[in-house]
Amino acid sequence: MNELLWFLLPVAAAAGWFAGKRNQTRATAAWNYANNIHKDVNLLLSERTLKPDELLDSLAETDGEAADTYIALGNLFRRRGDVDKAILLHESLLNTVKLEPTLRSSAMVALAQDYDSAGLMDRAEALYRKLIASNPAFPDYWISLIHLHEREHDWAAAIESAQAMKAAIPPNNKTIEKADLPRRLAHFHCELALRAAHDGYEEQFGELLEKALSYYPESARAHIMLGQRALRKGRNDDVLEHFRAVEAARPALLPEIIDDWFAALRGASDPQALDDFIEHIRGRRNAYSVIRTTRDVIAEREGEAEGDRFLKEQIVRRPSLKSLRDWVHDQVQVARPEERENVQVVATMLDQVVEEKPLYACRVCGFNGNVLHWQCPGCARWDTVTTIVGIEGE
Ligand SMILES: [Zn+2]
Repeated sequence: MNELLWFLLPVAAAAGWFAGKRNQTRATAAWNYANNIHKDVNLLLSERTLKPDELLDSLAETDGEAADTYIALGNLFRRRGDVDKAILLHESLLNTVKLEPTLRSSAMVALAQDYDSAGLMDRAEALYRKLIASNPAFPDYWISLIHLHEREHDWAAAIESAQAMKAAIPPNNKTIEKADLPRRLAHFHCELALRAAHDGYEEQFGELLEKALSYYPESARAHIMLGQRALRKGRNDDVLEHFRAVEAARPALLPEIIDDWFAALRGASDPQALDDFIEHIRGRRNAYSVIRTTRDVIAEREGEAEGDRFLKEQIVRRPSLKSLRDWVHDQVQVARPEERENVQVVATMLDQVVEEKPLYACRVCGFNGNVLHWQCPGCARWDTVTTIVGIEGE
């Protein structure tokens, strides 16, 4: 990183040389600019504590042209973990130099990011609100504020800001489309619903989830939570309705609900519903856990041989390490005594291989793990973590 900072010096000096070709005044300014940057970089890179007065003195001699370099320099300090120096630089710049409005906004955004990195959330929020007040139609300030609420898990504030953003910005704005507000609002309501359930407010739990669907009818998360609630209340037909919506919106989530889906089908008002669902499963490409659960239901209703026939038919269509592992485990039981030990070794090896494979991955940043996160811990996007499918997954 230090090399990168030093790279700024010849660039600044070269900028000074070109300026000097135009007139003497500009040459002097460029020379001062390069010298100031050189001095400040040295001070900021040194291990001793930089006195604010020293920085203020050199900034006082700086014109607005150098400001963007100072902003970039502060950002570099933040990225390498020197948040205190980044804050000092950006704060000093804002307090000392008269900046034109665009540069002033850039410096404020940079300072808000410094505060955010330092955990000074109140100060970061105050700056974002100031920026929004200065230009309410600029989506990036709103998005930064909403991200801040998300990191703080302040879901009520996140809802308020998302609604205010929707009201302030025309709906055909490309950035507001990218912000994916309906999906976010649904997740914020799901988060509040979880809190309500935790605190024992059952009625509020249901209302918040319905609200989530009013913003984003395809919210798989809200449908799963409402389906599971209906199952607890014995309203099996409602369960089926919500789970069908989950499958339509995000078919990869079927493994999360397959057990509950079969539980609801067993108590559904339509006796044909269970047979129809099994037929539906036969006709689609399935994750291994869906195949395994369906196999057990078929075995229970039509006998073990029929269950195994379904299993073989399905795993040939979508082979995976998990299905191979289970098949080898089954072979241990039926292997000849002299071969059993070898088959057991293969089964144990496959257990280890499968255990090391993550269950879920983010399709955007590649973050992976064994928990289904609705918001990716790697890139903070919503609904991008999904079940891994294919040979190494489901
Ligand atoms: Zn991600």
